[in-house]
Amino acid sequence: MGKRYTITAALPYTNGPIHIGHLAGVYIPADIYSRFLRLTKNDVVFICGSDEHGVPITLKAKKGGVNPQVIVDKYHKNIKDSFNEFGISFDNYSRTSSKIHHQTASDFFIKLNKNNSFKEIESEQFYDKQANQFLADRFIIGTCPKCKSPDSYGDQCENCGTTHNALDLINPKSSITGLTPEMKKTKHWFLKLDEYQEFLSNWILNENKSSWKSNVLGQCKSWLDDGLRPRAVTRDLDWGVPVPLENAKGKVLYVWFDAPIGYISSTKEWAKNQNKNWEDYWKHPDTELIHFIGKDNIVFHCIIFPAMLKAEGSYILPKNVPANEFLNLEGQKISTSKNWAVWLPEYLKDFPNKQDVLRYVLTSNAPESKDNDFTWKDFQAKNNNELVAIFGNFINRVVVLTNKYYEGFVPNKNELIIEDIDTINLINKSILKINKSLKDFKFRESCNELINISRIGNKYLADQEPWKLIKVDEKRVETIMYVSLQISAILSIFSDPFLPVTSKKLKVMLNSKSHDSKWVWHDGSNSKSFSADNFLLKSGIKINKAELLFSKIEDSEIDFQIKKLNKAKKSKDLSPIKNEISYNDFSKLELKVGSITHAEKVPKTKKLLSLKVDMGDHNRTIVSGIAKSYSTNEIIGQKVVVLTNLDTKIIAGVKSQGMILLTRDENDNQIFIQPDSTKIPDGLKIS
Ligand SMILES: [Zn+2]
Repeated sequence: MGKRYTITAALPYTNGPIHIGHLAGVYIPADIYSRFLRLTKNDVVFICGSDEHGVPITLKAKKGGVNPQVIVDKYHKNIKDSFNEFGISFDNYSRTSSKIHHQTASDFFIKLNKNNSFKEIESEQFYDKQANQFLADRFIIGTCPKCKSPDSYGDQCENCGTTHNALDLINPKSSITGLTPEMKKTKHWFLKLDEYQEFLSNWILNENKSSWKSNVLGQCKSWLDDGLRPRAVTRDLDWGVPVPLENAKGKVLYVWFDAPIGYISSTKEWAKNQNKNWEDYWKHPDTELIHFIGKDNIVFHCIIFPAMLKAEGSYILPKNVPANEFLNLEGQKISTSKNWAVWLPEYLKDFPNKQDVLRYVLTSNAPESKDNDFTWKDFQAKNNNELVAIFGNFINRVVVLTNKYYEGFVPNKNELIIEDIDTINLINKSILKINKSLKDFKFRESCNELINISRIGNKYLADQEPWKLIKVDEKRVETIMYVSLQISAILSIFSDPFLPVTSKKLKVMLNSKSHDSKWVWHDGSNSKSFSADNFLLKSGIKINKAELLFSKIEDSEIDFQIKKLNKAKKSKDLSPIKNEISYNDFSKLELKVGSITHAEKVPKTKKLLSLKVDMGDHNRTIVSGIAKSYSTNEIIGQKVVVLTNLDTKIIAGVKSQGMILLTRDENDNQIFIQPDSTKIPDGLKIS
């Protein structure tokens, strides 16, 4: 065994599915690295789990009128399934609502409390008297002090993007009851981060200066230059890990405090199942701890969590935190709330069995040193011009020709000439580069080097032209095909971390199990390198028939995706916003079909039309605000749906008896909800 590694990938927040930005930024690089470490015979545990606490989940639960557990159960499953489908090879995927996590986080807090790492601070916070609870910033809505938008959140205005303090909001209201909150005293525990300023500055900016990425060091430096202050680790909330102290009723651990401890509890869960000692992976000085995260998490993993680990006293600190920048989509920031994203379950529906294609595109264009852009056109180009035209084409030619010339049997190796040796040397150089860049967390580079191996193979075939030589020099063709088959075997081994499904398929195609040599990863150093003495496929063994590894993606599929993206952006969040109601509630509505028989503008108004509607057994007058979308003459005779038992109202001087159901089209015009048959009689009930 080589070294011991603990690899963590940021715990995804369980209030929605995951999208390509998450995959590109965190999970694919973490997976490639973990696979690489396993292939190079290290002792690896690759850890993740769902982050299931925090205010946004409770807010979503309140909006939907359900318990937060319902929300986290739903998305925990959804996210876990996506990871499985994309081959993210976690050794353990846990969740922070689990018992083992609550226990671990509680113990951690108690230890820090004993070590005198906290400071108790009393302050005044917004309190909703009717809901009987303190209000987190997200639960307060008011007018933005900067842009005056009327529905800014307490912590951030979605209109102008400024972050602020809930106390700065003009006319703050509780989003739970709509009441004006009052101020009430509350006590919280603060981690004395300021006491770690010197230790962290030295550890990050001196000790890790040469090994950490510059984007990570840059962010840390700016935090440290600002000066670290004590930071609250508890909140007044009823969802989370309860603060394990007598005098802390109604308080839970702040989600940023409990989430990184989730890595530890997930490792404990794994160790228990595997009969291992979890402490080897978190407390042994020989273990390397690596956190894979996106740039929005740098402060938590480079400053706050290390301070917590140091305060606890028995843990190792991360060796590296190779955080990525952000992936944009078609030139715009990926946004969950604006539905500007490619969701993984959706991708798999539209591109079944093309997990490796997305893994490849996201890796070869990974936002490693700066923000990068994902476009569907580029996705198509990388698939068609690289995976299909280079990698797939090379393998296909080799396997088809071997079947054609030798009925699938690996031919003899005759004398190698200089072109063969040169090609082998080039490939050895690529293998060295792949190993080096993987060690340096340069996944783009290593992935592009993999394609380079197939490029070298393609060029070799094109230069040697076995299809011409087959008529004049059979011996030479045997050698060409023999060398080409060895290159294919190399591709099957070195594609494993990047394209795990393809790697497996290719090994089956080459019948790897029947060759007596071990098909294992090697580091490209001389003793183990790819050479004439160390070939993988043995002459005389039969390989299988060619199978397409990749297929072309058509323009129409790409157009469909772009249209879908633009449409989804308009329709925004699809999940219900209002509380669920019972059938009994619904049955209180009386909905009937009617026909418009007369329409006129309501005087002195811009939007209102006064309509006469034939309800079958009677006529009624309804005032409707549709004058901007419909003219008076075009709507005569139209079938509409009427809410008939709405209480009568006087609108702009006209008595209105009911309401006509409407929706809006993509241009924001109002349109009637109509039965699609004009034969439906007026007065028919809808239920
Ligand atoms: Zn604003």
